[in-house]
Amino acid sequence: MNGPVASTPLVGGCLCGTVRYRLASSPTDAGWCHCRTCQLNSGSPAMAFATVPTDDFIIENGADSIGRISSSSTGERWFCRACGTPLLMRDRDGATTCDFSIATLDRPEAITPGFHIFTASRIAWAMPGDDLPRYPRGRSEGSE
Ligand SMILES: [Zn+2]
Ligand SMILES: [Zn+2]
Repeated sequence: MNGPVASTPLVGGCLCGTVRYRLASSPTDAGWCHCRTCQLNSGSPAMAFATVPTDDFIIENGADSIGRISSSSTGERWFCRACGTPLLMRDRDGATTCDFSIATLDRPEAITPGFHIFTASRIAWAMPGDDLPRYPRGRSEGSE
C-alpha cells in the first residue's frame, strides 16, 4: 500500500453525473501511470489510479451508461457513454481487482499516489514534481 488512504466510504462519478459509484473498501496501490494507453484514453499526460477488489467498486447509478473498450490483449476500460469520462481499467475475464481513476472521486485528495509507472513513455514536458519511485514499466520490473 502506498500513500495515505482515507476511511471508507469514498464516492465518485463522471463529468455529467450519470454514473455514480461507491467504494466498499479502502483503495490500495495508488500511483501514476504514464503509458501510452492511459495518455490516449484520458487525453492527458498520465492517469492516477488506485486499486480495489472488483466487488468493492459499486455502481450506484448509471450502470446502463457505462461503455467498455478493449484496451489491451487482456484489459478493458470503462467510461461514461454520455460524457466520456474514463472511470477504470480491469482485466476482461476473471478480474479480482480493478484500477479506478482517482480523479473521478468527489474528493480526489483522499488518495495520494505513491509511485510512477511506465515512465519510459512519459511525455518529456510532463515532469513529475515529486520524489516518488519511478518505474520505466511495471513495478515488477524494477525502478529507475
Ligand atoms: Zn457521464
Ligand atoms: Zn497506463
